Amino acid sequence: MTKDSLNLFGESAAVRTVPVLVPMPAPVPYSYKVPEHMHVEPGSIVQVPLGPRIVTGVVWDDEASGDKVDAKKLRAIEHVFDCPPLAKDMRVFLDWVAAYTISPPGLVARMALRAPTAFDPEPMVEALRLVSKDVSRMTPARERVLELASDGFSWTRLGLVHAAGVSASVVDGLVTQGVFETVFLPPPPIVAAPDPDYAEPRLEGPQKAAGKVLVKSVGKATFGVSLIDGVTGSGKTEVYFEAIAETLRQGKQVLILLPEIALTASFLDRFQDRFGSKPAEWHSDLAPKTREKVWRQVVTGEVRVVAGARSALFLPFSELGLIIVDEEHDPAFKQEDRVFYNARDMAVVRGRIGDFPVVLVSATPSVESQVNALQGRYEMIHLPTRFGEAAMPDLKLIDMRKHPPARGGFLSRVMLKGIAKTLEKGEQSLLFLNRRGYAPLTLCRVCGHRFQCPDCSSWLVEHRFRGQIQCHHCGHSEPTPDACPECGTLDHLVACGPGVERIAEEVDSHFPDARTIVLSSDMAGGVKRLRLELEAIAKGEADIIIGTQLVAKGHNFPLMTLVGIVDADLGLANGDPRAAERTFQLLSQVTGRAGRTGLKSHGLIQTYQPGHPVMQAIVSGDAEAFYDREIHEREKALLPPFGRLASVIVSAADRAEAEGHARGLRRSAPNADGISVLGPAEAPLALVRGRYRFRLLIHGRRNSDLQAFLRAMLAAGPKQRGSVQVQLDIDPQSFL
Ligand code: ADP
Ligand code: ZN
Repeated sequence: MTKDSLNLFGESAAVRTVPVLVPMPAPVPYSYKVPEHMHVEPGSIVQVPLGPRIVTGVVWDDEASGDKVDAKKLRAIEHVFDCPPLAKDMRVFLDWVAAYTISPPGLVARMALRAPTAFDPEPMVEALRLVSKDVSRMTPARERVLELASDGFSWTRLGLVHAAGVSASVVDGLVTQGVFETVFLPPPPIVAAPDPDYAEPRLEGPQKAAGKVLVKSVGKATFGVSLIDGVTGSGKTEVYFEAIAETLRQGKQVLILLPEIALTASFLDRFQDRFGSKPAEWHSDLAPKTREKVWRQVVTGEVRVVAGARSALFLPFSELGLIIVDEEHDPAFKQEDRVFYNARDMAVVRGRIGDFPVVLVSATPSVESQVNALQGRYEMIHLPTRFGEAAMPDLKLIDMRKHPPARGGFLSRVMLKGIAKTLEKGEQSLLFLNRRGYAPLTLCRVCGHRFQCPDCSSWLVEHRFRGQIQCHHCGHSEPTPDACPECGTLDHLVACGPGVERIAEEVDSHFPDARTIVLSSDMAGGVKRLRLELEAIAKGEADIIIGTQLVAKGHNFPLMTLVGIVDADLGLANGDPRAAERTFQLLSQVTGRAGRTGLKSHGLIQTYQPGHPVMQAIVSGDAEAFYDREIHEREKALLPPFGRLASVIVSAADRAEAEGHARGLRRSAPNADGISVLGPAEAPLALVRGRYRFRLLIHGRRNSDLQAFLRAMLAAGPKQRGSVQVQLDIDPQSFL
């Protein structure tokens, strides 16, 4: 409860004020008057006046004292929504995220309030209940309606109309005769409650021990982190379902974070097979109405399990008892917009604050999580072999220096042979290339002109299916030209390098009768179409699939026995400290799509660097050696998790302005033991959407307080003027 604060301006009435956090970049909650007879408590969702507007905010805790406003100027809360308050641990979590990411708490709270119409209860549903069978004139249509409605349940008017196959006037006629009474029912839950004992699996082999250990940890119902490290197809999902069952039995809610939930419909089916009903989904492709329902039913506790993308971490659970982070190494858990956060790391924080267990799951855990497990902070659970008959694919490197592709092509003869053999057996091949479109660069053969985005420092990517060249950073697109804009020569433009569309063209020329599918996130038809295509592949309706990383995540394709990596070196070239780790993870994950149901399977990896440690680790299957080496290198260089990093990205419409501001910040950096500043340097992506970008990289020891350092630097730095924007990225994943 909030304490009354006396009006210091001589008036006698005691005015009760509370801090309210509004969804704006405000640094502190604002104070508001609570009208007499209004009941609010910390966490209450309210409407308050702010300037000329009315906004939605959350009553915050007293410790967050709010601003000090002259009592005469205090404005009053206008409305309290009929909604359970945000739980205490959620409020503490939001404050924590704000402090850690150095974001205004209001912006973080806004992530928890993204359901504007869900703050009030859903309206009751009008329904009809049979109360009499006295019908003046019976007709076959009326008879059908009566028969259905005699089941003792209430029916909606439309429900009866459709089920009985009659016109609405038939039902309305019966209503007029007093056959039905109108009743009001609560809206149906968006998903039925899952039953932890619906279909208990029989865990086998190493799964048994893993399941036991996990259920025991989760059973303690206190904070602790487990890391399930199991090869693709080992049954990790099956094992963590047991942790979910245990939590449901305790009467708690569960959150499962998945990197590509919108595309993994099969996950929802598996969940249903185990628990009798689907989890509620949460991701940006849900219809707004559905999202609002999920939000509401999470806060009221009707929804017990949510499977969602990273933003689900900010759903207002009232009884959260477990978070699972599947594919915990996945870069998609990092949000790089407004509030920069890593949902994997914040999930662990959420568990610590709420005092409940967190389970991280991966076939290729992040180096950070590996180190946490090695040092005993996380409990490690291993699943070293595939479930049942399935063996890991047999992986081979194709040394492209020895087996180059034919002129104008990108697939080595060895790869083409592999595909041909797989076709003969009636099985599926996947060709993986993490590049959308037809070609990453187009140039003029006569004058050398390269097509570049007018607003970004990036080449325009040709999308031949659509007849466009497009920027992958800002979306700028134009029709593919016939003539060079520089020298005017017609028909002398050449595509350089491959994208998935170009590989598809090459495949078609070699295997004209095969059924091929190209899958990438920019295909027309969006998520719906992609889901259908993925289902079609799983049913064996395609022979050769050419795809980007989209096909690498979580899908189960029973007939897929060959995975070919078109360019394994692609991710190694950039200056990212995690390049080796990421490449290892991606290649393991993609090749792991092969042979999940017991058929003999192969992986063929095209590389110009067969001696590279990543390639060696992949073919030898010796992940441990790879991690040992990677951990050792990070330790030597004091890179995460042995040191800490933060990025400051300064951008402006004017290059000199951006650079000047970045230099100013650098000069304002305080002296701190163990913390150093690199840069500013022009960002590798020097221009995005017409904004020039400069980067500073802050490096600290493991125990350094980077946040305090950054706050001091910003406070002492130049005032943000004109078009200058400063973005802070703690624990950056991207260095572009
Ligand atoms: P992972 O998540 O480790 O890639 P999955 O949990 O998807 O592995 O399991 C791989 C396949 O094996 C799935 O089709 C799954 O249904 C099956 N499977 C795993 N464990 C069992 C089990 N104990 N009983 C029956 N089927 C299982
Ligand atoms: Zn662009």
